[in-house]
Order: sequence, then structure tokens, then C-alpha cells
Amino acid sequence: MHRIKCSGWEEIFGQDRAVAYLRSGLQRGDLPHALLFTGPRGVGKFTTALLFAAAVLCPSAGPDGCPVCRRVADRVHPDLHLVVPEGLSIRVEQIRRMESALSRKPVEGRGRVVIVDEADVMTQEAASAFLKTLEEPFPDTVLVLVCESRENLLPTVVSRCREIRFSPLGSRDLERFLMEREGMSEDEARSLARRAGGIFGRALLWVRHPELALYWEKGVECAASLRRLSLQEALESMESCRRQLHEMKLSAGGPEDPYLAALDRKSAEQLRKRREEEVARENKRARRQAAHDFLDGMVSFYRDIMLLSLVEEAGKEVREDLLLNPEWRRELEREALHTDRRRAWRCLEALRDAERALDANVDEELVLAGLVLELRSRI
Ligand SMILES: [Zn+2]
Repeated sequence: MHRIKCSGWEEIFGQDRAVAYLRSGLQRGDLPHALLFTGPRGVGKFTTALLFAAAVLCPSAGPDGCPVCRRVADRVHPDLHLVVPEGLSIRVEQIRRMESALSRKPVEGRGRVVIVDEADVMTQEAASAFLKTLEEPFPDTVLVLVCESRENLLPTVVSRCREIRFSPLGSRDLERFLMEREGMSEDEARSLARRAGGIFGRALLWVRHPELALYWEKGVECAASLRRLSLQEALESMESCRRQLHEMKLSAGGPEDPYLAALDRKSAEQLRKRREEEVARENKRARRQAAHDFLDGMVSFYRDIMLLSLVEEAGKEVREDLLLNPEWRRELEREALHTDRRRAWRCLEALRDAERALDANVDEELVLAGLVLELRSRI
């Protein structure tokens, strides 16, 4: 698992405007009491929230990796309050727990930071309770809400926060990052950035957990073979993919931190427990991501077929670098003979429906089996 170090603002890549706003607010000491970080998945919102918390709580007034910052990074600082979904939502009891913790004095006296991650999954009840905290703010406390879009929050919550937008990062930014910070060659970086659809968090996850990139590949494979398998075989192959998705676990992090040994028993235990919870949460997220990656792999295959058939209709040759799956060119050309661009388009529609169904927590087995049937009727 990638751990944030809270050693400096440079840990954030490509969000200069958001970072500049926070830093100048911190310097002047005039930040609003509630911030709302919005932007696409995986661009650094949560990391920024932690760095911001470190800056508020650190004696040197900026994240610098000192022991205080480390405790923030490890989410064990007593004045950092983290609210994350338990199960699928953030429940009202969690908001009440947070409020009762805030009603006591700050432990270390430098102020307090509350981070509500995935704030858009607060239940109605939780959101109403939270609204009260926003209306009657606790002294020396900054609330940071993190979510993809303000659209999914109560307008009354949004109107009481200062929104800070995180920009989607382009494929170029991502390529630059992979070369500069991950030491990849230009070709490797370009290919990975293209597959990750320019989504930073996804590319990072793939770099740190190469086993995850396999699901995308599996999706491509599955789309390439779908027409030639019998229905029984196609359903079985999809089911085996689903089982692998279901059993997926991220590889464990590094050896136990010597830092743990330096803590007293109670804090060490608390930290260990916190990390276990975090690993479980990361795994759950990674599974969800892997399911999307799998479907996106399939999407990329039909997208390439559309491109091939469009360009060929125009009597031209497709440039290799325009394909998402240049290494599958032979299979793509073979399938394009049977699946014209209208059919490919209808396959993309079926895939989009499947993604939505997964987001809405429809049973995975049902969604994927239904998808096989849908796709086979369209190719
Ligand atoms: Zn520090």
C-alpha cells in the first residue's frame, strides 16, 4: 500500500492551484472553517487533505515529515478526526461520534482537522447531523469534505463550504509524472498513461500493484475471445474472472515500521489496528477498481474496433499509436470483420450499463453473466 509521507507539498502532483490556495490561506491564517475538495477519482484529493491536516497540526506550520506529521500521515494524531464510510455509507452514528470528540478540547492545542472522505455517501440522516456542525462550527477546527462532485451533496452543505476544485490530470501530466518520479522510459510511460485513461490514481495503483493491471488485460482478452467461445464456455470464463476479482487482495506492504517500536504500547496497538482497517478498506476499493478495470479493458477492445472500422470505411490505415491495444491488432482486425462500428457501439452501451449496475451494487455474478448474453447478441 502506498503510504503518504506528509513530508512536503511536493507530494502532490499537478494541482498547483489547489495547493497554492491552501498554502496561502495557512500562511495568512484566514482559512474558512469548512473546505470541500472536489474532483475526479485518483487525482490527489485525500492526500492533499492529509498534507493540509499535517500543516495545521505541525509545529513548523507546514508538512515536513516531523514526528507530528508522521502521526498525521499514519492517521493516529489525536487532533485529526477521520470519517470514512463504514460499509457502503457514512452513518449518523459516525457523525455523532465525531461531534462528541470535537466537544472536548484539542489534545495538543494547535487546532483540529476533520476529514470526511467520500462525503457523498453520507446517509440523509448523517448529512443533516453534519449540517449542524457546519452551522455551529467548533472553535479552532477545520472540516475538510472530500468527494468527486458537489452534485451529490446537500446544497445546504455545499453552500457552507469553500469548494476547492482538483483538476483532472491529462495524459501528458501523467506521462511526465511516470517518467520523472517513477523512472519509467518514455514508451512505458506513454503506454501506461493511455491505458489508465489519464487517471492518476489508477496509474499509480498499477505501478505499485502490477497484479492489478492484469484485470484490464483480462477484460481485453475476454472481449477478444467472446465470439468464438460457446455460450457455456463464455459464461464459465466470465465466472472465473469474477471469482478472481472477488478473491483479489493487494500485496502486503513493506516490513513492519521501526517507528511502531518507538511508540508506547497503547499508541502502537492503536496504529496497528488503524492500519489493518486501512488495508481492509484499500482492498475493498482495489476490488471495486479491478472490476471497473476489467470492464474498461473490454471497453477498450470495442473502442479499438470502432476506430478500425471508421478509419477503414474512410479507406485509410489506422496509425498504431491511436489504438489502445496495438498488441492485439490481429484479433481486432479479425473481430472487426464480424463486428462493424454500429455493433461495437451497441457493445459499448451494454458495458456502460454493466458499469452502472456494479456502481449500484447489483450482484456481480448477475451483472457479468447478463453482460455475456448482451454482448453475444450484439457481436
Ligand atoms: Zn511536521
